[in-house]
Amino acid sequence: ATPTALMVGTGRSAKMGILIKNGEVLEAVNDVQTVVFDKTGTITNGQPVVTDIIGDDTQVLTISAALEAASEHPLAAAIMQKAQTAGIKVPAAQEFQAIQGKGVSAAINGSTAFVGNDKLLAGVTITQALQQQAAALQAQAKTVVYVGENQQVIGLIAIQDTPKATSQAAIAALKARGLHTVMLTGDNRRVAEAIAAAVGIDAVIADVLPEDKAAQVQKLQENGKVAFVGDGINDAPALTVADVGIAMGSGTDIAIESGGIVLVKNDLRDVDRALALSKKTFNRIK
Ligand code: ADP
Ligand code: MG
Repeated sequence: ATPTALMVGTGRSAKMGILIKNGEVLEAVNDVQTVVFDKTGTITNGQPVVTDIIGDDTQVLTISAALEAASEHPLAAAIMQKAQTAGIKVPAAQEFQAIQGKGVSAAINGSTAFVGNDKLLAGVTITQALQQQAAALQAQAKTVVYVGENQQVIGLIAIQDTPKATSQAAIAALKARGLHTVMLTGDNRRVAEAIAAAVGIDAVIADVLPEDKAAQVQKLQENGKVAFVGDGINDAPALTVADVGIAMGSGTDIAIESGGIVLVKNDLRDVDRALALSKKTFNRIK
């Protein structure tokens, strides 16, 4: 992704790899009370890997790969990678449908199949054993997707995305300033809480549909100014609504355009550095 020419950047911060679009943004940073983070690609590396398959491995991978071949989601990339290493022959799928914040569905050999989270399970049969295994995997901070065919879950795939090495220190620095830290994610609550605990985030808002992220930020704004840090297409509305939108430089173009600050080095500790810079600048003026 390329930062746009809109970027002016105050000289010093730009040298540090923190692009600040204008002075108003820098001033707003000074008043922030809550910092909200997207999970995937912001707190985590955004390179998920398949760790466990429950069910008939070949069958589960064959169906899921047929569906995910047409998806651009990071979870799809993890599943395609696993199918390739396992030497799976991926059948063609028809009537592909991406269901935002939930998963994908398609027709394979005349039957309807899906891969996705529990929001897709309405009217679908799942054994209690599978449900328990899903919960256990989620408690290990693994994202679980259900693989189903003809209204029945045939297996699970657990996918893990590890926190960035700097996430914990970045959160600790913000908390030391007395700021409230929050994770906002479309992923499952158990997974989100396990990752939040690992990096020390205060609060978790999970199972949020892409279209509801901005509304969640607005709710937090009732308690003071909010900074939102994110990288994805689905983060753009939240980046715009927040008092300070902070985009990761590795993020999608639309996220970078929506943010008032861009972290070129993709280092979450730069959120705290931007705060320090703002404090310095505005204490001098006052
Ligand atoms: P995030 O906040 O992590 O960016 P998304 O809104 O992109 O979340 O996705 C939320 C959840 O929807 C994922 O954790 C996953 O359970 C499900 N999901 C979305 N797209 C897919 C897909 N292509 N395959 C499987 N599951 C998916
Ligand atoms: Mg993300």
